[in-house]
Amino acid sequence: MFHAYLKVAEHCNLCGEQLDLRHADDFPPYITILIVGHSLISLMLHLWPGTSILPYYLYTMVPLAVILPIALPPSIKCAIVGLQ
Ligand SMILES: [Zn+2]
Repeated sequence: MFHAYLKVAEHCNLCGEQLDLRHADDFPPYITILIVGHSLISLMLHLWPGTSILPYYLYTMVPLAVILPIALPPSIKCAIVGLQ
């Protein structure tokens, strides 16, 4: 469906459906922020009272805060374009 990271291809490889007329605009970043923000912040608030796990906290939360916002938008945009 994509020919670059978030660039929608002109046509579907399987059925030939024209995809470049579908515009997801700001909805994929919004959904990404909604998912990552709510999951990480709730996990951080849940783990915060245990200050003895601070190294594990940093080793897990920082990579997740970097990797998830990069990894999620293509699949979310694919779902939004597919729904259109
Ligand atoms: Zn198709």
